[in-house]
Amino acid sequence: MKPPQFEYAAPATLPEALALLAHPDGDAKPLAGGQSLMPVLAFRLASPRLLVDLRLLQGMDRIEVDASGVRMGAKVRWRDIERDARLKTALPLMAEAIGHVAHYQIRNRGTVGGSLAHADPAAELPGIAVACDATIEIASTRGSRSVAAADFFEGALTTVLQPDELITAITFPAWPAGRASAFEELARRHGDFAMAGTAVWFDLDTAGRAMNTHIGVIGASDRPRRLAAAEAKLDGQVIDAQSIGEAACAAAGACDPADDLHASAAYRRNLVGVLVERALARALAGTKGSGTAINRSGESH
Ligand SMILES: Cc1cc2nc3c(=O)[nH]c(=O)nc-3n(C[C@H](O)[C@H](O)[C@H](O)COP(=O)(O)OP(=O)(O)OC[C@H]3O[C@@H](n4cnc5c(N)ncnc54)[C@H](O)[C@@H]3O)c2cc1C
Repeated sequence: MKPPQFEYAAPATLPEALALLAHPDGDAKPLAGGQSLMPVLAFRLASPRLLVDLRLLQGMDRIEVDASGVRMGAKVRWRDIERDARLKTALPLMAEAIGHVAHYQIRNRGTVGGSLAHADPAAELPGIAVACDATIEIASTRGSRSVAAADFFEGALTTVLQPDELITAITFPAWPAGRASAFEELARRHGDFAMAGTAVWFDLDTAGRAMNTHIGVIGASDRPRRLAAAEAKLDGQVIDAQSIGEAACAAAGACDPADDLHASAAYRRNLVGVLVERALARALAGTKGSGTAINRSGESH
């Protein structure tokens, strides 16, 4: 099907874009890479009056890495993430996950802001944002606000964004050297959305026990989420095959997937357990021989 008719604007500045989104006629939508919005329009799942193309807006396409962490502008594309070698140490979970995001052509167009706003429960970036305690920066003519990723996603394709609001950036806290992490997912074909996936990380104290354990999952609920019951199985424990097995079991029990065309809920639940177990084992293996532990303030030594 063809998209319904819409008006089109390509504002040159952020205030102009926000003014268009806040127009009293309402019903305007931002257009970023178009990789999710255009199919939505073509299927007539949405019929906005106006598309506000973000392509001319300056300063929203940078990845900044400093001592406080990583800040990505909303217009950063998947390919920018893929090509930024700094992220291997500054945001290793995203650097690992990016190879699973869609296909080459889509990675050339798709953006960080579009992915967060679209809020597909199986998308990688939203899952990593929740797993890594990221913050989403939002602007409108009414001002700006920051929302923790954990509070941003309200359900499948649903977020706290108001119609007049634009995501401007996402920030991730600093990532200390020596932190253990791994990303795992399973998709039917490479580049498809995951049936389920997980991003895990933990720090080790000087006695080799886990702390700050974070286990995030995608495709296992109506939104990306952390699994506190599984995290609790590891915090304060030595990470070994037994504690990993217990955490994986708790993860499978704690997620709430749905049946769909691609997999049953029971399959997805089992898959979450398998992926969490694999990811934790791989994260642990990465710490062996590194000689790095992290103290309670998060500094590596
Ligand atoms: C075949 C296929 C496979 C895919 N596989 C994957 C995959 O494996 N993993 C994955 O994560 N994604 C996948 N995607 C989705 C892809 O990554 C999209 O590019 C992404 O989800 C949306 O980014 P976009 O820039 O194209 O946004 P658009 O399509 O332009 O917009 C998407 C939505 O976000 C809104 N929006 C855009 N920018 C902003 C902003 N700054 N502030 C507020 N709202 C905004 C739009 O109004 C729209 O509602 C796939 C897409 C296709 C077509």
